[in-house]
Amino acid sequence: MSDLNTTALKGVEMTIDKIIIDTLVIGAGQAGVAMSEHLSKQGVPHLVLERSRIAEAWRTGRWDSLVANGPAWHDRFPGLEFKDLDSDAFAPKEQVADYFEAYAKQFNAPIRTGIEVQQVVRNTNRPGFTIETSDGVIEATQVVVATGPFQRPVIPPIAAEYEGITQIHSAEYRNPQQLAEGAVLVVGAGSSGVQIADELQRAGKQVYLSVGAHDRPPRAYRNRDFCWWLGVLGEWDAEGVQPGKEHVTIAVSGARGGHTVDFRKLANQGMTLVGLTQSFNNGVVNFQANLADNIARGDENYLALLDAADAYIARNGLDLPPEPEARILPPDPDCLTNPILQLDLAQAGVTTIIWATGYAVDYSWLKVNAFTETGKPQHQRGVSSEPGIYFVGLPWLSRRGSAFIWGVWHDAKHIADHIVKQRSYLAYRDFAQRQAEDGKTASVTSAITKTTVSA
Ligand SMILES: Cc1cc2nc3c(=O)[nH]c(=O)nc-3n(C[C@H](O)[C@H](O)[C@H](O)COP(=O)(O)OP(=O)(O)OC[C@H]3O[C@@H](n4cnc5c(N)ncnc54)[C@H](O)[C@@H]3O)c2cc1C
Repeated sequence: MSDLNTTALKGVEMTIDKIIIDTLVIGAGQAGVAMSEHLSKQGVPHLVLERSRIAEAWRTGRWDSLVANGPAWHDRFPGLEFKDLDSDAFAPKEQVADYFEAYAKQFNAPIRTGIEVQQVVRNTNRPGFTIETSDGVIEATQVVVATGPFQRPVIPPIAAEYEGITQIHSAEYRNPQQLAEGAVLVVGAGSSGVQIADELQRAGKQVYLSVGAHDRPPRAYRNRDFCWWLGVLGEWDAEGVQPGKEHVTIAVSGARGGHTVDFRKLANQGMTLVGLTQSFNNGVVNFQANLADNIARGDENYLALLDAADAYIARNGLDLPPEPEARILPPDPDCLTNPILQLDLAQAGVTTIIWATGYAVDYSWLKVNAFTETGKPQHQRGVSSEPGIYFVGLPWLSRRGSAFIWGVWHDAKHIADHIVKQRSYLAYRDFAQRQAEDGKTASVTSAITKTTVSA
């Protein structure tokens, strides 16, 4: 750890071969930055280690045209507004990364970049953890894991390889020019899949979009963005997934100034919608016969939000303009009424498959007792079953908003509070200990006085 900055050294004890710190935060995405802010505010000595750069996922981990899904007034931390951006606009991903860098600078966050944490193990017969990094060993009493909710791209095992067809995960997609000539099958219609499919179709590609269960709130209704509606209706703060909604993704878009995701509209533009991708067989993809159902459930979710919004407006006597046209859904396109259940990839001219099928986490380096039998983090609001280990930034950590920008800030605060409470318990000294310590201080003071007198 040769070039630690002075802020990082505040509260850090260094020995010849290791650094000893009260709290180590791993990862400097938005979760790590929020964590550092709350720990700084509460005076907890800490260090943040980041293997790449601050907010690297926003800078290089996503496609070129990505903008935040929520408007700038919402998708930010309380302590800083976006610079040079209208508060109703959707920040381009680079600007989001710049924002977190500026945010960290604002309170001089003790972040050290370019260092990877390779292993965390619990100490035996003494408190804390030993952390091996790409640049030396660290000892910490607390470790906060802020390594992100979306670490390892997941492609379901049904995928089969075919010559002449390139298959990538949405994490590898950058822009339409990157793809070979030919049609594209996009599997998954959450925010990533639907935005990528839309961009490819606008670039002139023939696109097949495989649509599963989804929610699709209106971008805005009666002059308020859906982020506002989910806020006032208490939906962001919902503490658990509704039964049956465990695998439901959310399809929203801030692209082109923000718009409601409307699958019928996409189909009327020329996109072919298909049901959930089920299997591949000799170059033929089979889709489940559930497209109409999935679209209908998405419509239900859309209309339910309009209903809840209308009720909220009426209850509170708000003066927001009625928007009856929001309830008119376009006619069903042919691909919805006569859905394709099979697609011969070669015949359809498909040369690329994009799997927008989500991510998993990888904690193989975290050798602690903080996981369930199925390998999931075991925690309550981020406080794990291994005392001293915390998670922040995971979906539904405490509520719906937990993996999103605004939500992680609140979860980080809760975790910092917990760390402070534990530190105060550990700082407790009984009478005998206090007397012994007072005695030690007294003898040190008298030694200093004597030295001063004799000098
Ligand atoms: C396509 C996409 C669009 C999104 N859009 C929005 C949006 O508009 N609004 C919103 O609120 N949310 C959005 N999200 C969700 C969420 O805000 C982001 O995923 C965000 O990046 C999560 O932040 P994080 O800090 O938890 O994780 P990350 O940003 O992934 O940060 C984790 C950091 O940890 C580092 N790290 C990992 N392992 C180690 C290690 N062993 N040692 C050291 N460092 C390590 C990584 O390099 C990384 O920088 C989006 C997500 C995706 C995938």
